[in-house]
Amino acid sequence: MTLDLDYFKRQLEEEKTRLEGELGTIAHRNPDAPEDWVVTPPDLNVMRAAKEEVADQEEELENAASVEYNLESRLKDINEALERARQGKYGTCSVDGEPIDEARLRANPAATTCVKHGN
Ligand SMILES: [Zn+2]
Repeated sequence: MTLDLDYFKRQLEEEKTRLEGELGTIAHRNPDAPEDWVVTPPDLNVMRAAKEEVADQEEELENAASVEYNLESRLKDINEALERARQGKYGTCSVDGEPIDEARLRANPAATTCVKHGN
């Protein structure tokens, strides 16, 4: 089986761009670790804001943190798959080196394990 590497790389690059765009609306890159993203806190104007407004903003920040966490972990998977592509290992299981089923890759181009070792 020969994988259409270009197709999968394009899928990965597209999703990477999309994820980074989404992350950019709620977070910024950690200047000390470019792969790490930090949630941008809303402007807390405690002096002026009423108590419940502050509570709202705190809740908002918590939601943003969980959204950010999910986007960032997905982005890590994408980067890992792209890195494997650079090493010529794309489409093989990171556990046993067996080829990953193409249907599995089509469903999730970032998959780095076969069905047996899948998550
Ligand atoms: Zn495997």
